[in-house]
Amino acid sequence: MMNTNRTEGLRALIRQGLQAVAHKDTLAHLGDRSSYVGMSDIGQHWECPRAALARKVLPITNSLERLLTLQRGHWFESGVGQALAVLGLHVLPQLEINWQHQGVLIKAHLDFVLVWGAPVNAIRILEVKSTDKLPGSPYDSHLLQLHGQIGLLTKAWSKPVFSLRAEDGTLLHDKMTFPQLCLAHLGLQLPTTATEASMEAWLLCLSMKEVKAFGPYGFNQAMLDTAFDHATQLWDELTAFRAGNITLAQVDCAQGFYPLCSYCEHNGDCPKFPQGMQMPQWEPALEKLTTLKEQRTALDNEIKEIEAVLKLVHRQAGTRDWVQAGKHRFRMSVAVGRTTLDKNALREELAEIFHTEHLGEIDVDALLTRCERTGAPSERLTISSIN
Ligand code: SF4
Repeated sequence: MMNTNRTEGLRALIRQGLQAVAHKDTLAHLGDRSSYVGMSDIGQHWECPRAALARKVLPITNSLERLLTLQRGHWFESGVGQALAVLGLHVLPQLEINWQHQGVLIKAHLDFVLVWGAPVNAIRILEVKSTDKLPGSPYDSHLLQLHGQIGLLTKAWSKPVFSLRAEDGTLLHDKMTFPQLCLAHLGLQLPTTATEASMEAWLLCLSMKEVKAFGPYGFNQAMLDTAFDHATQLWDELTAFRAGNITLAQVDCAQGFYPLCSYCEHNGDCPKFPQGMQMPQWEPALEKLTTLKEQRTALDNEIKEIEAVLKLVHRQAGTRDWVQAGKHRFRMSVAVGRTTLDKNALREELAEIFHTEHLGEIDVDALLTRCERTGAPSERLTISSIN
């Protein structure tokens, strides 16, 4: 009992410290977030307007786990910054752009802007995201955020709206044009218009073990307009909410399956999940199932790690035979890869055959669909935590 109290005490202490760090960082670099719309707000609003508004107007009590996830992003970002700096590249970290659009103050904070001055004249924006698992393709919200960043940098290039801060938040340069800021901070000469520079934006996703880059993305007027539209919509909703004219329930929420609902701090009373039947007696079973699934994931990972080590040991032993280890023996062998049907290749081959055999117009897609078989439906249980 005594130990449990002390363990909990230590967790509480770390949580309190992380909360203070997060608060200090936000104040130093982002300022009063209620007075403007940030690029991440815009990205969030694109996917779920209700979550974007709730994030701006409702206080949340961050758990230790959530604070760790938030801080992990900052720690990764700082590691990437060190990696870029040690290479001697010219980097602007957390470049701030202030932009007025139809009376709404929009602020973009660009994680890293790499600059090559004349005669190369190249700009690379790098947005760093940390995720548990690397996504197969970028999230829509991250893409809109990135397009907003490159769009604003291009539009605002020769306007005095750029600022840069030191790590502790002190202003180093304020209200400069982009070329002025690059000259003052990096000593680099840049052209007077963005069209004379090569501009690209990249998304760098990091997990604990892997890195994946998405890009390059260039200036796209339609995406910038979409970002501006969402900024004005969010600001209108914010103003109406503050004036007491709307409630959160009247704001649209994400449609269809949205994977971030489980992590959303405001999913407790979200209209996406109607308050249905109550069966509190099943809570222990759901909790047990959730714990068992977590244990299964941990066990799967542990099994994979031990298997990887044993495969390596067998490979390095330079034998194809079984290796004895006490009451067990083990061997690594190479299994033949799975054979799958490449539908696209088959579609092309069939179209080619029908064409050369002069069999007229045959709908290859319909033919393939006629040959598909769907298995019997199966039941699936989905569990989501109410935050
Ligand atoms: S629970 Fe999902 S739909 Fe509801 S506000 Fe949160 S993210 Fe949006």
